[in-house]
Order: sequence, then C-alpha cells, then structure tokens
Amino acid sequence: MTTANSANVTGDKKLTARIAGTVRHSSVDGPGVRYVVFFQGCPHHCPGCQNPDTWDPGAGEEVAVDDLIDELSRTRFLDGITLSGGDPFVQPEAVMALADAAREKGLTVWAYTGWTWEALQNGAAGEAAKDALSHIDVLVDSPFVEELLSRECIYRGSSNQRLIDVPASLKAGEAVDVQLEGGVG
Ligand code: SF4
Repeated sequence: MTTANSANVTGDKKLTARIAGTVRHSSVDGPGVRYVVFFQGCPHHCPGCQNPDTWDPGAGEEVAVDDLIDELSRTRFLDGITLSGGDPFVQPEAVMALADAAREKGLTVWAYTGWTWEALQNGAAGEAAKDALSHIDVLVDSPFVEELLSRECIYRGSSNQRLIDVPASLKAGEAVDVQLEGGVG
C-alpha cells in the first residue's frame, strides 16, 4: 500500500505518483488553460471538502511520472500546469518532477496544499516538500474552512486561503501574495 510521501522510486528507478486523475484542459484551476494532476492522498480532512475521495492515500491509481509528462507533452494550447488533489505535497518528488517538466516547456506551475506556507517552510510536510516549493510559481495554501467559504475568492474556496507568489516569497523570507493583474500567471 502506498503511504504518505508515496511518490516513490521503484526497483527500476522509475518515479511513480498515486493520483486520482488528470484533466488535460482546465480553465478553473488557475489562469488560462491548464493541465491538472489531482494527487491521491490528503491528511487534512477539511470539513466540507469537495474531493473527499482523494483523502485515502491507498486509493486512486499509481502511475509513472514519465507517463504523466508524456501526456502533458501531447497536450496542446496550455498556459500552465496545476498540481491539486488531495495534497500534492504528500508526494513532493512527483511535484518536483512534474513542475520541472512543465517549466522546461515554458508553462507556469501552480500547486494547491492544505498546509500553510509557514508550515511547509517549517518542515511540517518534510524536507522534500519544503524543497518542492522552489519548483513552483504559485502556491494556493491553507486548509479549506467551510465557515469562510466565499464566492469572492478567485481560484480558492475560503477566504483564509492565499495565492502566494513563491519566487517572491522565497526571496522575501515570508509569504507574498500574488498580484493577479499583470502578476504571476
Ligand atoms: S486540503 Fe483540499 S483536498 Fe485536502 S481535505 Fe482540505 S479541501 Fe480537501
């Protein structure tokens, strides 16, 4: 059974990820048209979560990350890739590999997480998850809070969640919000 940090390297060195599925063209998971990978496994269990089927780290399917990259490469008219779930940071090696492949193709990289920026920086999800931050452009952080549900929140479910400009935040040493108009996309 695959467990937390379940993106793994098997005996033949093939990196795999446990996923709930992919969407090749999404217009709701970040700006523009995006390839989305929904990771399987989430430890946060937010009340009101819209994707509870992604919580179980042993469900979904285990796929070769190279196969996901192949599918990404065969998908035209993309502006970016979004890593969602579930929580992608449970599988940081796969996050890094997919993010790097996307960036090589000139695509922007967004990732969702139920951890806060500060928790990831403090190693709450492990060192590899902290390292994975430097491979992405925008982090949508924090757990979903049902009482803070807001339709005003673009690309987020509740008002506590933030759109964080990752390169600017790493440079500043603290979370810096994305400026969507003319900002990181
Ligand atoms: S972090 Fe996201 S996927 Fe996980 S329980 Fe919360 S809302 Fe659901």
